[in-house]
Amino acid sequence: MESEMLPAASALAAYGRENAQLTGSAILLVDDKPELLNSLHQLVTLHGYQAEKALGGREALDKLSRKAYDVVLLDLIMPGVSGHDVLDYAAKQNLECKIIVVSGDVKHALHCGAFDFIKKPYEAGELISTMETALRQRRLELQNVDMEEQLRESESLHRFIVNSSPDLVYMLDRNGCFTFLNDRVESLLGYRKDELIGRHYSEIIDDDYIEVARNVFNERRTGNRAVINVEMRLKSRLRSRGMHFPHTQSVWMELSAMGVYTNPKERTRKNFTGTYGTARDISERKEAEEVINFQAYHDLLTHLPNRALLKDRLSLAIAQARRNKRKLAVMFLDLDRFKVVNDTLGHSIGDRLLKAVANRLQSCLRQGDTLSRFGGDEFTLLLPEVRTRDDVVVIATKILDRLNTPFLIDGHELFVGASIGIAMYPEAGDSGEALIQNSDIAMYQVKGRSKNGYQFFSEEMNHQYSTRLSLERELRNALTRDELVVYYQPQVALGSGVITGVEALVRWQHPRQGLLGPEAFLPLAEETGIIVQLDEAVQRQAFADVARWREQGFETLRLSVNLSAQQLEQDNFVNRFLGHVQMAGLDPESLKLEITENTLMRDLEIIIPKLRELRRQGARIAIDDFGTGYSSLSYLQQFPIHTLKIDRSFVSDIRAEEGDASIIDAIVAMARGLKLDLIAEGVENRTQLRYLSTQGCREVQGFFFSRPVPARQMTDLLNRNGYRELVLAETTNSAATV
Ligand code: C2E
Ligand code: MG
Ligand code: MG
Repeated sequence: MESEMLPAASALAAYGRENAQLTGSAILLVDDKPELLNSLHQLVTLHGYQAEKALGGREALDKLSRKAYDVVLLDLIMPGVSGHDVLDYAAKQNLECKIIVVSGDVKHALHCGAFDFIKKPYEAGELISTMETALRQRRLELQNVDMEEQLRESESLHRFIVNSSPDLVYMLDRNGCFTFLNDRVESLLGYRKDELIGRHYSEIIDDDYIEVARNVFNERRTGNRAVINVEMRLKSRLRSRGMHFPHTQSVWMELSAMGVYTNPKERTRKNFTGTYGTARDISERKEAEEVINFQAYHDLLTHLPNRALLKDRLSLAIAQARRNKRKLAVMFLDLDRFKVVNDTLGHSIGDRLLKAVANRLQSCLRQGDTLSRFGGDEFTLLLPEVRTRDDVVVIATKILDRLNTPFLIDGHELFVGASIGIAMYPEAGDSGEALIQNSDIAMYQVKGRSKNGYQFFSEEMNHQYSTRLSLERELRNALTRDELVVYYQPQVALGSGVITGVEALVRWQHPRQGLLGPEAFLPLAEETGIIVQLDEAVQRQAFADVARWREQGFETLRLSVNLSAQQLEQDNFVNRFLGHVQMAGLDPESLKLEITENTLMRDLEIIIPKLRELRRQGARIAIDDFGTGYSSLSYLQQFPIHTLKIDRSFVSDIRAEEGDASIIDAIVAMARGLKLDLIAEGVENRTQLRYLSTQGCREVQGFFFSRPVPARQMTDLLNRNGYRELVLAETTNSAATV
């Protein structure tokens, strides 16, 4: 068929090639008569063939046993070993040569396995053409064997390729039953091939994807849709490798399906014979996707929904509430003492506390409520199904109540309260944004007031919120307009009544509201970072005042300044600070730096080296509000500190002479043990003064001596030569009154 299409020249060439192959064949001529054998040989040679001669049957057998011939021209009647014997031998040995009997009597030749026969005396042309037919036949047979070999090879190659494919390869018949599966089905899904062959595909499709699969396999696919790719889950007998999202019995696969048709050009239902396709294991990718998805919408620490997911759910809930004319509530919850724990005990305990809090909060909720972590120690709660404020109060109370029990983490008993702000739809806003913001504003009210409580949002708060914003603006202006004033409070030596130092305390001379104490604006200054500039302004003023007093003769007067965490954390804090000290003409030795426990513990690695450097330069370091934080004895030993300043809450606990002041006693003992100085603040009456004096506290500060006063008044106090009489009177137990 192929040659029909070939041009004449190449047909000739093909013929030539074939002839060349024929003339290269192995031919054996057998006759017992030398002259006949020779003339046969001549004839064959004349036609371009090479042939070997065997004189008689014995020699023929000998040659046949050693070499494979394509064609043998065999005389039958020979003495000794006859032509029949040779044919017998060839049949027994299954020789593949074609034997042409050349004999006077050829009657039984074909029965004996000869390929053909020629009667002697032969006609030359006939003999040659018979021989060539045999040669050609032989050639064809050889080619056939070759081809079969190649086929076998290529079939096993394909089988190999198909079976070692990383993908599952399958075929379905037109009813959807498996007709073929490669070996991968065993390692991917855990089925043996033979148990699936003949079964319907639906037996291994995850129940949730049966509908998808039906579409894939039943739909007629044409044009662009000749191949379909879908992701679906297949039932597996192997244990799931998914760690995060264990769907134990099924595996994610990407499945391709291609319809098979008897006539590929005509994709009709009648033509449809089945489906061919592959399935690839995509569980790793799916898992990664699921993790990424999870991360995008969840807080990684607590695994609670994050801000984004909350906003999603909130807008859905609002839409629903609007439709059904229902209410809903958003709670903004901020932990009260979390920062202290985090700063003093470290982030890992802080993290564990957050997780524990999240768990407790979750236990207060109903199904359908969403608790989300908003960041830091802030949580937001969406309660989509509330009818009245009372419903919300129940939940808020429950939460506060649950948080009342301390958390036990790593041996620490930790108390955290919560400030909860509540905004209800529709009263407190009709968008998610507004509800969240207003619950936040309400939360701030609780924080500002007493902490540990809840508060519903009201319009009036909005006003206070904008007040806060304008306060921030005004505070920034205060710095440039010199509205900040430094007040001083004397520190008195108990033995002599001498004023040994003064503490600088900031005040704000507000243009409309009058003189404001630090509690009115320091929290805002800290939140907004204004505190750093504010502290520097206070310090510059105080350095100048104290330098002047020292020049006026109070050479040993010390200045105590309060340092904020943010100021201490500034990169170039030490140099800036010392620069200002020097500029004022002061010596670092005349300074006492007051740092609260919480500031100190907030970032030990950053703060401690700075304090060491300041101490090296001569400054003294005091721990302010001592006893209210979480610092431990073992830490204190390593810090470069001189003084513990007993918090005024402990001093105010001293009421009767024998009153329970065990905390003070403990602090006094601790200071002795660590060889640290002690100063008590907040001394308001003589009972406290006496108690502290008998405990061995040598320095005190408080309203009993003086409230914080402006610089001019402080100058007067200094000039009055201290509190000698007052101190002596009290500590010698006389009845003098103030
Ligand atoms: P503090 O450093 O512990 O200062 C002592 C506070 O106790 C002062 O409050 C002082 O007026 C008050 N106080 C003193 N004696 C008595 C007393 O006998 N009875 C009572 N009830 N209170 C007494 P103030 O001035 O309101 O300052 C509050 C806090 O603000 C300070 O606590 C300090 O932490 C901070 N602060 C004040 N000025 C500055 C400043 O310039 N920079 C920084 N970073 N913080 C400052
Ligand atoms: Mg003969
Ligand atoms: Mg202080």
